[in-house]
Amino acid sequence: MSAEEQFKKIISHCKEYGFIFPSSEIYEGLAAVYDYGQNGVELKNNLRQYWWKSMVQMHQNIVGLDSAIFMQPKVWKASGHVDGFSDPMIDNKDSKKRYRADVLLEEHQDKIQDKIDKEIEKAAKRFGDSFDAKLYSDTNPRIMEYYASISLIDNTLKTGLETGNLDLIKALIEQLEIVCPISGTKNWTDVRQFNLMYSTQMTATDGESELYLRPETAQGIFVNFLNVQKSGRMKIPFGIAQTGKAFRNEIVARQFIMRMKEFEQMEMQFFVRPGTEMEWYTYWKDTRLKWHKALGTNTENLKYHDHLKLAHYANAAVDIEYKFPFGFKEVEGIHSRTDFDLGRHQEFSGKKLQYFDPETNQNYVPYVVETSIGLDRLFLLQLCENLVDEVLENGETRTVFKINPVLAPYKVAILPLVKKDGLPEIAEKIYNDLKFDFNCFYEEKDTIGKRYRRQDAIGTPFCVTIDYDSVQDSSVTLRYRDSMEQKRIKIDELHGLISEEVSWKKLLNNL
Ligand code: ATP
Repeated sequence: MSAEEQFKKIISHCKEYGFIFPSSEIYEGLAAVYDYGQNGVELKNNLRQYWWKSMVQMHQNIVGLDSAIFMQPKVWKASGHVDGFSDPMIDNKDSKKRYRADVLLEEHQDKIQDKIDKEIEKAAKRFGDSFDAKLYSDTNPRIMEYYASISLIDNTLKTGLETGNLDLIKALIEQLEIVCPISGTKNWTDVRQFNLMYSTQMTATDGESELYLRPETAQGIFVNFLNVQKSGRMKIPFGIAQTGKAFRNEIVARQFIMRMKEFEQMEMQFFVRPGTEMEWYTYWKDTRLKWHKALGTNTENLKYHDHLKLAHYANAAVDIEYKFPFGFKEVEGIHSRTDFDLGRHQEFSGKKLQYFDPETNQNYVPYVVETSIGLDRLFLLQLCENLVDEVLENGETRTVFKINPVLAPYKVAILPLVKKDGLPEIAEKIYNDLKFDFNCFYEEKDTIGKRYRRQDAIGTPFCVTIDYDSVQDSSVTLRYRDSMEQKRIKIDELHGLISEEVSWKKLLNNL
């Protein structure tokens, strides 16, 4: 299956099995906005819980917060979002479609890179074992020209964005003869900056005031830094963690839940003594990659991507990228943000945001290392990594969602073989016993084979089948999702066995 087909399959699986629906679908939907269905919400809650438990519950010096989505508009002035949180946009006058100018150029670079890869592949075939790819690309005139073109784009983008000279970017798009994929023409408008924040109004006694939907959760943490530090008597180094919705008016929203206008972030700001930030940066960079691996994600599908161009307030930044069907893309960012945010809020609010360090006897504005992950991208990662088609011995295929059992929407499905002769009564008794500790699925309809397949497709790690023997010997058949192994087990052993397999402790102990 091609990567594109795999991705299409994931999207249709999500809809068919109640993971994700397009928002307001009966009204033709709303671009780049999605709803999580009955299975999606369970998986999303479990992913959020995994993050929360590992961040807050597993660290004595990290506490949680739930700050409001609405904030005083001055927050966004201080944070730099009002003036700087924008993307360079360009419109094609014929198709009336809007694009991110930097994305058009980056896609052009990808095309050049493809040409380079093809040249190298051809040469490798021609020269055989003695082929030295590095030497070839360093000396072949055509490849050198391609690389020069890639760096020209990098440099022009950087200069254009840093100096605000957007005409440079437009001129480059024209020079490279980039056409609109819809109209096929080069009839472009000028490039201009487009702010990504949504604004709305709040009515107060003295009239209306404009306010923004937060584009990130982090600022709620910064403005509560002293509240939490003082009321929790926190000592540096310490962290504040928060999960919640964020909103960005993404113009180029695509790739399903990868880039949405309303999404959920899980962020942790770690406050440290100035001068120790690089140590903590390395610590969190390692810790976060380990966290992804503990879920069983294939190591080859994860990689670091160091930021070469740093934001003006950062002194180090790295992304953790996952190999999605459309290529390696960011799932999480780890940023060393210096004292920029607290410093700016101190300046704009006129309130001191400092910490007295009893060990050094000094007052200072702490430095911050943040980890920021998109819950929806993590959700998509789980689907890409774990949704597999398996060919069985009898030639049939089954679709299995091999998600880590702790994260599965349902832990166990309880299935009476037939809907009579006392079997449903036993099944309901089992359901009523297990429901306090596990999310259980109960189903009486259809053949047992069909019921197993449906549970495989939503990732339920265990199926319990109640048959005629169960009436006699109080035992049931337990079926394992991944191996499809079935074994007979006493009803009163079920709870213990399932508990062990789906325990948070087992997962968190891997960290
Ligand atoms: P990108 O470069 O992909 O736009 P970003 O660098 O702007 O992402 P951050 O501002 O660092 O992202 O946000 C932290 C995390 O929030 C990202 O790693 C990503 O997982 C998630 N995220 C950001 N924007 C979106 C979006 N529009 N839809 C879904 N998740 C998002």
